[in-house]
Amino acid sequence: MPEVRATSVAEVQEAVRLYPRLRPRGGGSKPALSTPREGEVGLDLSGLRGLLEYTPEEFVFTAYAGTPLSEVEEALKAHGQYLPFHPPLKGRGATLGGTVASGLSGPMRYRFGGLRDFLLGVRFVDGEGRLVRGGGKVVKNAAGFPFHRLMVGSLGAFGVVVELSFKVFPYPRVTRTLRVRLGSLGEALAALERLRSLPLDLLALDLLPPATLEVRLGGFPRSVEARLKGIQELLGQEGEVLEEDEAHWEAVRDLAFLEESPVWVKVPAGLGRLPELETLPLERRRYLAGGELLYAGTDPEGLKALRQRGLPHLVLRGAEEPLFPPPPQGFFARVKGALDPLGRFPLG
Ligand SMILES: Cc1cc2nc3c(=O)[nH]c(=O)nc-3n(C[C@H](O)[C@H](O)[C@H](O)COP(=O)(O)OP(=O)(O)OC[C@H]3O[C@@H](n4cnc5c(N)ncnc54)[C@H](O)[C@@H]3O)c2cc1C
Repeated sequence: MPEVRATSVAEVQEAVRLYPRLRPRGGGSKPALSTPREGEVGLDLSGLRGLLEYTPEEFVFTAYAGTPLSEVEEALKAHGQYLPFHPPLKGRGATLGGTVASGLSGPMRYRFGGLRDFLLGVRFVDGEGRLVRGGGKVVKNAAGFPFHRLMVGSLGAFGVVVELSFKVFPYPRVTRTLRVRLGSLGEALAALERLRSLPLDLLALDLLPPATLEVRLGGFPRSVEARLKGIQELLGQEGEVLEEDEAHWEAVRDLAFLEESPVWVKVPAGLGRLPELETLPLERRRYLAGGELLYAGTDPEGLKALRQRGLPHLVLRGAEEPLFPPPPQGFFARVKGALDPLGRFPLG
């Protein structure tokens, strides 16, 4: 498979002008999205890396798109800060650019919002090799169309992202996780609904079907202990408290529970859709963000079942056609026509 490597913005521009079909790759942690197909040249961005600016007191940073999440988080951690949308696959080499292009958030997005809420601005190279800026580098930006957010989940179809600016948050002083096993899927859904509707300030609220809930809390030690007790009372059981829960959630965000499955898929869920999803032949599953988002492992049969039922999803690993359904033509085609008129960048 032909591949070019870019280590500067100028080299990205040069590659875009030179090759008629280009597929960017950051860390390659989502091969269904980043593996070049026939006729495409891979554009390796792993060399376009590094933090460009980081102002801890302003809670903002700017970095090159090929910067691994692990590198960003290490720099943030030194100042007690983090990316609250908890991007997945950090331990598998995921980069900032790939995370934005595939629109992925992880378990702790429950508390503060997803990736799009933290992206302040981007610079990207469009299909004609022009360097385009969207948004800015500061939290209080001038009003206007949030052009940069088009890049979230765009799967590289509009251009090659080269630089990104994010806002960040302080990491909670302590965290605790409560794991509770309920009697049935119905009971677990009722408990989920209850926990979602109360002002409990949870960092994460996940369902492992059929009936296990994991609730993560964070903050000052005394408040965390008091809230933990409140939730135990609410659910009518002590459950299991994971005191040192960091390693557990790092494995969750790396999607370690999908390891055995050939196909990894992300499916927008929600409490209404969840019972139907549970009837499908999917393997390992975890519903994140109060049941709104499903990461599942499956095989080609499970994927076929999802498609036959018309359920939207994004495949991260193990399939050639990762996006179902394709984005709505009207809007998508007009943006694509403006930014990539020659169709250099494939979608999904
Ligand atoms: C608290 C909470 C957390 C949630 N967390 C998530 C979450 O992390 N992820 C999630 O998908 N949904 C999440 N949802 C559900 C989400 O809000 C939507 O309900 C759901 O995604 C369906 O919206 P949609 O049909 O407009 O599709 P979208 O959300 O717009 O997209 C569905 C899928 O297609 C992908 N996609 C969309 N447009 C494009 C494009 N142009 N190019 C490539 N890919 C594209 C997205 O990345 C996503 O995987 C959450 C909801 C809540 C309330």
